[in-house]
Amino acid sequence: MYKCPVCEQNIDEGKSNNAAGSSRINCPVCGYFIITGNSEWFLKTSLEKLKVTNKILSGILRNRFERGIENILTINNLEEIVNSEVIPKDPLDKIEHIFIALYNGINEEGNIKFNISNNLNMVYCNNEAFKKYFDILVGQELVGYNSEHIIPTIPTFKGYEKFEKLKAQKPQTNRAFVAMRFSDEYNEMYKNGIEEALEECGYEKPFRVDMKEHNGKIDDEIISMINQSSLLIADFSEDRGGIYFEAGYAMGRKTPVIFTCKEGNTDNLHFDTRQYNHIVWKTPEDLKEQLINRIKATVQI
Ligand SMILES: [Zn+2]
Repeated sequence: MYKCPVCEQNIDEGKSNNAAGSSRINCPVCGYFIITGNSEWFLKTSLEKLKVTNKILSGILRNRFERGIENILTINNLEEIVNSEVIPKDPLDKIEHIFIALYNGINEEGNIKFNISNNLNMVYCNNEAFKKYFDILVGQELVGYNSEHIIPTIPTFKGYEKFEKLKAQKPQTNRAFVAMRFSDEYNEMYKNGIEEALEECGYEKPFRVDMKEHNGKIDDEIISMINQSSLLIADFSEDRGGIYFEAGYAMGRKTPVIFTCKEGNTDNLHFDTRQYNHIVWKTPEDLKEQLINRIKATVQI
């Protein structure tokens, strides 16, 4: 018998070790993930530093797993993984999160698969809070109890309608928006670094705003392009107000943002965004390689 290092669930045959000292863990609560031996040892202190509980990490891993992301947990990328998920804080956000988790898991028979013992971590709340939020959704006719009046439960017409509406708001495209200073100096970095990395990860030609034409002005066209993007790459090698605005606007929309900066220019980074984990690049080729790894680690492809 082995306990999952993240959620402490008992796992019978869910663990195998490889020669490099990492464990493959198949946890019914956290989903499948790989953790290096070192990380297992330091997990508790690292999480305390990040002010994240094991329960929250368990939910983050599970949500990423459900979206098809392979979780490889190391001491170095723990913070990045933690920051890659938006944890709902307000009651309305939590209710919407629960609603989406319920409707995301509808099986072929039309039943909601959400299982209160193994899936509660996905919605970041305990049993009692879940039941209260759930009752609010029932009151809104967005879900209904089944005949035994127990969870799991059944979808409703109103619920399906709302779910489709929410899905339509999220860009389904494989397009990314690139926020950077467009000048001859950065042309090669854009072409051989960003564009090639995006192409390799299955993205269409990215939205590119020529700063010369736009003069750094944020207009409706830029907003519309960000709205249509499922990823934003922001390069802060040169301090430009527009790039901060574009990155902040995308973050507000819960669109993933990848921060990059040229080596030697990181001192220019603005105080407010310095804590985000920037890819520090030396050459376009180096940027390309790091970007591919980051996209694969943070975004569903
Ligand atoms: Zn677990």
